[in-house]
Amino acid sequence: MTYLANDNGYYGEFGGAFIPEMLQPNVNELKACYREIINSHEFKQEFIGLLKNYVGRPSPLYFAKRLSEKYGTNIYLKREDLNHTGSHKINNTIGQILLAQKMGKKRIIAETGAGQHGVATATVCALMNLECVVYMGELDVHRQEPNVKRMEMLGAKVVPALSGNKTLKDATNEALRDWINNPEDTYYLIGSVVGPHPYPDIVARFQSVISEEIGWQLDEQIGRTSPDYLIASVGGGSNAAGTFFHYLDDEKVKLIGVEASGLGINTNETAASLACGDVGFIHGSKTLLMQDHDGQIIEPYSISAGLDYPGIGPLHSHLFKTGRASYLDATDQEALDAAFLLTRTEGIIPALESAHALVALNKIKFKPDDVVVVTISGRGDKDMDTYISKM
Ligand SMILES: *Cc1c(COP(=O)(O)O)cnc(C)c1O
Repeated sequence: MTYLANDNGYYGEFGGAFIPEMLQPNVNELKACYREIINSHEFKQEFIGLLKNYVGRPSPLYFAKRLSEKYGTNIYLKREDLNHTGSHKINNTIGQILLAQKMGKKRIIAETGAGQHGVATATVCALMNLECVVYMGELDVHRQEPNVKRMEMLGAKVVPALSGNKTLKDATNEALRDWINNPEDTYYLIGSVVGPHPYPDIVARFQSVISEEIGWQLDEQIGRTSPDYLIASVGGGSNAAGTFFHYLDDEKVKLIGVEASGLGINTNETAASLACGDVGFIHGSKTLLMQDHDGQIIEPYSISAGLDYPGIGPLHSHLFKTGRASYLDATDQEALDAAFLLTRTEGIIPALESAHALVALNKIKFKPDDVVVVTISGRGDKDMDTYISKM
């Protein structure tokens, strides 16, 4: 496939593995074995079995009749919000926990910002009876207390990162330090299509179940396998990568990612890494990110904790640079309006992240016979406090 990583993990000029010398053996071990493991019959059987019976897949592809009437086109919602634990993140953590097991690892580490990936990781560690340590910036530990409690109830140890701004980047540094110190028994479980090669490729492949299902579900419902548009929100970019995956080489399908622009791309309170960023290095990968003149990473802002990430996965930087995908941005207010609209027209309360994807419906001129698929990456329960404060 044209848009996937080459053997060195490059998507065009982006990607690679820019890591300290001391991490090289860990990353090399993973690189050497991941493809063979995830392509094996045994792995696939276990992965598919858990996605079906534990996660509840396939997630429905739902024709949103009233929303379609409003926009004068045909809108289908890919319902990742109905997965166990409430978002697409579980697809990836199930895949990586199986990979870790097959590699003989006994201990799992992860970092989390909003806590969603931490909860998904703690969930699969409980399921597989593996030790779980989640690093989280101290500020985020306080901001996201319910998720901290969930992780603890699931048996994970949450370690606050006390350095820097005490947010996601600092948690990442702590996780990497842990991995360097525990190379033998520890698996580092990354939550989006970010990080050094081979993580972006691993996560994209596990999330590709989304586009695989969209293909046969469209066929079943309307007798065609390709939509005209695929739309997804983009933080690191994993639900979008999974939504686009099987259509990357099908150039007739328009791919739309939506970044969070917070208070607007012309303010300092934003998380739109493509609209506002330039080339740099973050989390072991070369990609587009928000940085100041000295190359210091700018602290991102969005009302949605899951999109509050200063970079974007290298696959998306490449799709953006080549023009294969288009990226729009949505402000806090636009996302809130879209969340209330979906709730009142279809009876579905989306996650704030997913509401950003819905904003694209206002910004594109569709034809009456277009087929538009929007991925609802998660459910809105976790965002009720924010929604209530805006009612
Ligand atoms: C984490 C999260 C996102 C953003 O992450 P991606 O890797 O860009 O998908 C989007 N939606 C929900 C519900 C999330 O939890």
